[in-house]
Amino acid sequence: MLYKIIFGFVVMEALLLIVVCVRGVEQKGKKNMKNSITGAWNRYAFMKQMKYSFKKGNAFAVIVKFSDLKYYNTTLGVHSVNRIRKKAAEWLDAAWKEMQCYDCGNGVFALVGFGIEGSKEKEIEGKIMERFQDAWKCIKTEIVIPVQVCSVHIPDDVHTMEDMLLVVDREFSGKESEILNFQDMLTEYQRKIMVEAAIYKALENKSFEVYYQPIWDRENGNIHSAEALIRLKDEELGFISPEEFIPIAERNGTIFDIGLFVFEEACRFYKEKNLQAQGIDYIEVNLSVIQCMDSNLVQNFNEILSQKDLEACHINLEITESAVTDNQGILKRTVRALDHMGIRFSLDDYGTGYSNISFMYDMPFTIIKIDKSILWKALHPQLGQGDYRARIMLEKTVSMLQEMKYQILVEGVETEEQKNLLEKMQCDYLQGYFFSKPLPADEFMDYLQAANT
Ligand code: C2E
Ligand code: MG
Ligand code: MG
Repeated sequence: MLYKIIFGFVVMEALLLIVVCVRGVEQKGKKNMKNSITGAWNRYAFMKQMKYSFKKGNAFAVIVKFSDLKYYNTTLGVHSVNRIRKKAAEWLDAAWKEMQCYDCGNGVFALVGFGIEGSKEKEIEGKIMERFQDAWKCIKTEIVIPVQVCSVHIPDDVHTMEDMLLVVDREFSGKESEILNFQDMLTEYQRKIMVEAAIYKALENKSFEVYYQPIWDRENGNIHSAEALIRLKDEELGFISPEEFIPIAERNGTIFDIGLFVFEEACRFYKEKNLQAQGIDYIEVNLSVIQCMDSNLVQNFNEILSQKDLEACHINLEITESAVTDNQGILKRTVRALDHMGIRFSLDDYGTGYSNISFMYDMPFTIIKIDKSILWKALHPQLGQGDYRARIMLEKTVSMLQEMKYQILVEGVETEEQKNLLEKMQCDYLQGYFFSKPLPADEFMDYLQAANT
């Protein structure tokens, strides 16, 4: 009898232990599905939910994405931003009973529901926009964080995880909240894929071209240099602007090959056409800041210069002002090494980025290129007039840079009036359609012969 009681007791204990363990594993599993900061279901849970939604269908997801979390983390502090994220997650979760909130990480939230009526969708988007236009209390201050909101129908819009992550992981660094249309976003994405394919094709077929835009020297009225500008013409897509494909090339790494190609092509052109004898002191080549990450860049440029038997002073590298503030350490190191080789530098698009004056005089820039938008505000090419404050800003910028002993180049000169204004301000060099558009190599040679004789 005693033996039976003891046996029963042991079995009960064992069962209890199993129940406790299973519960523990369940709890732990649930915990692993929650974001530890916001308490909402995490990205893993979202992916699981999506898999289920693709199977079940008739699902509706609203993606809510905070603007540039990295920026807010550095300015407000991670602790404050985490508080806002938590409050936002709680608000999103509580706002619609029939929808579940997921925290996909990096300030991206997803609200997911099933069988949501079409009429309700606009209401949901509107309510989110309204809430995020208001501030979130954050320790001692109140902060408004812009969000991007995008509604997705499953399976009509999206039926694969890859497409879903396209919405979730899309970058947003905007300053204003906005509602995105999923189909527009898909079109934009597909265009990117096509442009990417065109880049690979052009690299393989060696069909990239380099055009040259003349740069006019005020002192002697001659063309004294030229900017090398890459051109991509695709059989299917036609002409693709570098403004569109360079950022894509920077993201997929093809910029390294493209950059080397343009550098080599400019050196070859300068040498083969004996441009020095025709009054061209140097060619300006745009350098992407991403190229500066390449530890072989300096050696590669050096090798190209010696292969072409060209002195480094005939190449002037342009760095964009907006790029200058990021990755300063590595950028400075590369620029210094290239500077030692004898290559000179221009600061491109001055006035469009974050004018970092102290950084500017830390770097060995010879020329500052004032962006066309600054000139056009001061004196518009079509309207023939400008804002008087923009004119003052242009004048003061030019005189400040002159005092700092920089040479000044103004881009985007389209009219004689603009040329006269800039001549009066004693700007050293002018570049723009008034003189010439960027030209294929042969046409540039014809232009040069006519202009410099
Ligand atoms: P950027 O370096 O500031 O080049 C000047 C841009 O302004 C060129 O556009 C040029 O065609 C245009 N431009 C010059 N004068 C005028 C004018 O009077 N009116 C107007 N409306 N436009 C004028 P493009 O060739 O489309 O190049 C755009 C940008 O793409 C360049 O701006 C540069 O940032 C980038 N890019 C072009 N080629 C290369 C390259 O080989 N490497 C890299 N990394 N970037 C490049
Ligand atoms: Mg440039
Ligand atoms: Mg520029």
